Amino acid sequence: MSNLIPRRKTRQVQVGNVWVGSDHPIVVQSMTNTDTADAEGTARQIFELWRAGSEVVRLTVNSPEAAAQVATIKTKLENWGCKVPLVGDFHYNGDRLLRDYPECAEALAKYRINPGNVGKGSKRDEKFALMIEKAIEYNKAVRIGVNWGSLDQSIAARMMDENSKRSQPLSADAVMREALIVSALESAEQAVKWGLSPDKILLSCKVSHVQDLIAVYRDLGARCDYPLHLGLTEAGMGSKGIVASSAALAILMQEGIGDTIRISLTPEPGGDRTKEVVVAQELLQTMGLRSFTPLVTACPGCGRTTSTVFQELAQDIQSFLREKMPVWRKDYPGVEDMKVAVMGCVVNGPGESKLADIGISLPGTGEVPVCPVYVDGEKDVTLKGEHVAVEFQAIVENYVVS
Ligand code: SF4
Repeated sequence: MSNLIPRRKTRQVQVGNVWVGSDHPIVVQSMTNTDTADAEGTARQIFELWRAGSEVVRLTVNSPEAAAQVATIKTKLENWGCKVPLVGDFHYNGDRLLRDYPECAEALAKYRINPGNVGKGSKRDEKFALMIEKAIEYNKAVRIGVNWGSLDQSIAARMMDENSKRSQPLSADAVMREALIVSALESAEQAVKWGLSPDKILLSCKVSHVQDLIAVYRDLGARCDYPLHLGLTEAGMGSKGIVASSAALAILMQEGIGDTIRISLTPEPGGDRTKEVVVAQELLQTMGLRSFTPLVTACPGCGRTTSTVFQELAQDIQSFLREKMPVWRKDYPGVEDMKVAVMGCVVNGPGESKLADIGISLPGTGEVPVCPVYVDGEKDVTLKGEHVAVEFQAIVENYVVS
C-alpha cells in the first residue's frame, strides 16, 4: 500500500487488541443501532459489523438495562470467535452507569465521552472526573468526542464573549469551530490533570458540513498530538451520505490527518448496517491507504452493453470476493491486494484485463459471444454460454488457493 502520504505524528493508543495512532493503519470503526438492552440482537449486529471488517464497534450505553448487558454481549461475541473492541457511548449518565455496573466498565475497551453531554455547572466537572476515574481504574482508553449538535454551551458562550472583544471579530461559524476545538482540548487537559495518561486519549470534533469538518480537523490536528477519530456526523442517506463523508475524510486523510474513521450513513428502514463498513474500507482502499478485499475494476458500460449480463457478473464477483474474504484473509495473506477486472466489451476489455491479476472481457451486445479470461496478463481460457459467472468465480478461487 502507498506510503506516499505521511501521517500526522500522534501518540499511540491501545483500544482493546487494536492500536490506534500514526504508527498503525487507519482503523475502520462502526456503530450499532440496536437497543443495547437486547443483548442477543446487539451481539448479532456487532458480529455482522466485525465480519464485514469493522475493527472497533461502538454501542450506546444509555440506561441501566443497557449497561447490565454489555458484559453479556462481549461474552457472546467471544464465544463466536469475535474479539472486536467495544466502545461505550455515554451521554448524561455515564458516571452513574460506570460506577454502578463494574462489569460494563471492565468489558468495554474505550469510553466515548461527549463533554457537551456530561452535565451542567459544577456537577459537570464532578461527573466528568468520575468517568475519568473509572477509565484509570479499569485501564481504558477514552475518546473525548465533541459534536456540533451538543456543544458545551458554557464554552460556546465564553468563545462568543471573547470574540466580541476582538478588534476584528471572527465569523459566527469560525467561533463555533473554535469552541468545538477548545471543548475537546480543555476536556483532554482536565482528564490528564486528573491522572489519565495522555496515551489513553483520542479526540474527535464532528460536524455535519464538509468544509467545517475539514477546517476543524486541520486546526485540531495542528494543536495536539492525540490520535483523531474522523467522521462527518449526520452525513445523510444513500449516495449523499457516501459522497459527503468521502469528500471530507479523503481530503483530511490525504493530509495525513485521521487515525480512525467512521462513515455515518442513515440506513434505509431494515437496511444493512454493514454498508458503512464497506464504504469506509472502499474509501481507504481506493485511496491506496489500506487493502481489505480485492476490488473489481469494471467499466461503466455503454451502448455496447445493452444486456445486464455484464453488470450482473461484476456484482456477482464482487459479492463472491467479499463473502470469501473472512476465510481467505486468514489463509492467504496478501489476497486483499489482488486485482480483478470485469469489462463490458473488447474496446478496453483485453487491455484492462491484462493489467489485472485476473480479468474477463465480455462480449458487447452484438459481438461474438465469447469471454476471454486473462490471468497474470496472459490469455488463459475463453468462457462461453450461460455458466460464465460460475466458471469465472472458480477461476478466481483457484487463483487464490493454488
Ligand atoms: Fe463500453 Fe466497452 Fe468501454 Fe465498457 S469497455 S465502457 S462496454 S466501450
